[in-house]
Amino acid sequence: MSQNQVIVLQAGYSHNDANEPNAMRANCSCTLIRCRDGSNIIVDTLTAWDGDQLKSLLAAQGLQPADINVVVCTHGHSDHIGCNYLFQEARLHIVGSCASNRDLYFEHAGALDAHGEVLVEQTPGHTLSCVSVVVHNTQLNGTVGICGDLFERRADIDDAQIWQAAGSEDEKRQAQERHRLAELCEHIVPGHGQMFALNAELRRKLRSCVETM
Ligand SMILES: [Zn+2]
Repeated sequence: MSQNQVIVLQAGYSHNDANEPNAMRANCSCTLIRCRDGSNIIVDTLTAWDGDQLKSLLAAQGLQPADINVVVCTHGHSDHIGCNYLFQEARLHIVGSCASNRDLYFEHAGALDAHGEVLVEQTPGHTLSCVSVVVHNTQLNGTVGICGDLFERRADIDDAQIWQAAGSEDEKRQAQERHRLAELCEHIVPGHGQMFALNAELRRKLRSCVETM
C-alpha cells in the first residue's frame, strides 16, 4: 500500500425524532484508517449498542477488533465512544485530549503512524477538548480531516445554525478551527454526515463565518 486508506465504515446522522418533538436521533461517523505502515486506526466508535454492527463493518474490511492498533474518539460524547471496549488489543485509546492504555494515562504527542502522516490535532469548539485526525497522503490524493463534531455535516457551512444547535462550548473558536481545517484538508469527514470535498466556495464561506463572529 503506497497511500493511507481512509474508509468511512458508517456515515453519521442527526435529526429530530419523528415522535418526540424535543428529542434527537444521532449516531456518529465511524472511520477506519488503514495506514500504509500496516497499522489500523479507528476514529469514533458509535454507541454502546453498536458492537455487533461495528464488528460486521470491520469484518467486511477483512478485520477483527484485535487488528485495531489505535482508537481515537474526537470527543467524549456517548455516540463517539460507545464501542471502545471492543479494542482491548489497541496500544492507545485517545478520547479528546486524553490518552490511555488500560489504567495508564499519559501525554500523547506526535504522529500515530510510522511515516508521520496521521496526526491528532486539537480542534476545540464543540467541546473544548475536541480533536480531529488529519491524514496526509491518502487514496483520495489529498489530506482528509476526520473532524468529529467540528463539522456536523456539509450543509452546516451554508447554515451555521446546524453546528451551533448541535452544541458548542466556544463558537468563535469553533469557527476558527473549521476555517483552519478547511485550509489544511481536501476532504472532511464530519461528525454526523457523509464525507465531502472542499472547494474554493466552501472555504470562502468558512473564512467569512470567522469574520462575522
Ligand atoms: Zn456527535
